[in-house]
Amino acid sequence: MAEFALDLNDDQKAVREWIHGFAADVMRPAAAEWDEREETPWPIIQEAAKIGLYSLDFYAQQYFDPTGLSIPMVMEELFWGDAGIGLSIVGTALAAVGVLANGTEEQIGTWIPQMYGDANDVKVAAFCSSEPDAGSDVSAMRTRAVYDEAKDEWVLNGTKTWATNGGIANVHVVVAVVDPELGSRGHASFVIPPNTPGLSQGQKFKKHGIRASHTAEVVLEDVRVPGHCLLGGKDKLDERLARARERAKEAKKGGERSEMGVPPAGGRGRVKNAAMATFEASRPAVGAQAVGIARAAYEVALDYAKTRVQFGRPIIDNQGIAFQLADMRTRIDAARLLVWRASWMAAAGRPFEGAEGSMSKLFAGETAKSVTAQAMQILGGNGFTREYPVERMHRDAAIYSIFEGTSEIQRLVIARTVSGVHVR
Ligand SMILES: Cc1cc2nc3c(=O)[nH]c(=O)nc-3n(C[C@H](O)[C@H](O)[C@H](O)COP(=O)(O)OP(=O)(O)OC[C@H]3O[C@@H](n4cnc5c(N)ncnc54)[C@H](O)[C@@H]3O)c2cc1C
Repeated sequence: MAEFALDLNDDQKAVREWIHGFAADVMRPAAAEWDEREETPWPIIQEAAKIGLYSLDFYAQQYFDPTGLSIPMVMEELFWGDAGIGLSIVGTALAAVGVLANGTEEQIGTWIPQMYGDANDVKVAAFCSSEPDAGSDVSAMRTRAVYDEAKDEWVLNGTKTWATNGGIANVHVVVAVVDPELGSRGHASFVIPPNTPGLSQGQKFKKHGIRASHTAEVVLEDVRVPGHCLLGGKDKLDERLARARERAKEAKKGGERSEMGVPPAGGRGRVKNAAMATFEASRPAVGAQAVGIARAAYEVALDYAKTRVQFGRPIIDNQGIAFQLADMRTRIDAARLLVWRASWMAAAGRPFEGAEGSMSKLFAGETAKSVTAQAMQILGGNGFTREYPVERMHRDAAIYSIFEGTSEIQRLVIARTVSGVHVR
């Protein structure tokens, strides 16, 4: 595997420049409009598809890059452009990672292309794990999948919430309970093919930020899918459940529950749940999105501080402003380093034994929130208006301490990992 290095190779630099151009020329000019409209920016996704930026081939190339730096680099540039539109473009990838993490080669080959569609007919996909009563506490999940052996079909019932692209997706990946006795270890992931009867969109949420990204409930009423829609296949599931049952007694002794992506203390070698595998893989990439938002806001604030004159001098002449900018830049660079380390580890097949994935997401998410708040302050009254982009960036940044595991849950992962104590 590639050694950890901070230099991007020539191919990566060319890709970065290409995405930066798309972010600057296509995404930024459209950002305010789609934020106000609170709708999926289909024309922009289509433009991204036309140039090959929204395509399975492009993401596969980046995903399998041995240096691990391509995905965070792509995410940072796109989210530097705009977070709401960025999430509309990359939201499909969370579902794709759900299939990659849990599916067979055949399932990967069948379903991921259908998630993207093609340039003339773009599609999106949704990953549905969260439920009204099961957010951080994944083990409280209620959506049930029951096997109908006679027909070799699975029957799913339940309500998912907060699903990015939920209800508008061509393909939904749904995590459901197959053995309620086993808590989160009794979960499995299913692909729900396009136009499957019984799946419908519930409430669409009106949000504080990332408003161009569609977020909605997904209702499953007697949704029947063929046996081959169980990701990983029935044999693998049966083996996993048998192992989990053996370990259930041990878990009961410690009274463990599984919060979103939180391994029990000393979690290595334990049986993982389906959602956990997806979130572990995606955390550094989500951290990179936060770095992109933070960098965008920092750049606006830096330019503004150099040109805004008060008391006869640019405001950056004051240490009170310049030191803030110094701290903002330092935090952004530190966040990127944590993200790149975690991303390289994932690409190199190294497990996050020190909770490196969670560290990267926690620090980058909190950095995006604090840096965008500082940027608003540096812009004064202008920062508070929609004439300037930093208030939107600040609203967008707020989600980075909430989704893909809240900041508290990331701290729980880190605390348990570094202490070996089952911290609650
Ligand atoms: C815009 C958006 C998009 C999303 N996209 C998706 C998606 O595509 N697919 C999907 O499955 N989900 C998605 N989610 C769901 C998201 O992952 C959850 O909102 C998140 O996991 C938190 O769950 P919750 O909202 O139920 O909060 P809760 O779990 O109810 O948490 C409430 C508060 O309590 C804290 N808390 C909870 N447990 C503990 C603990 N043990 N220790 C300390 N503090 C704790 C939390 O940190 C939080 O501050 C999305 C959410 C949003 C808002």
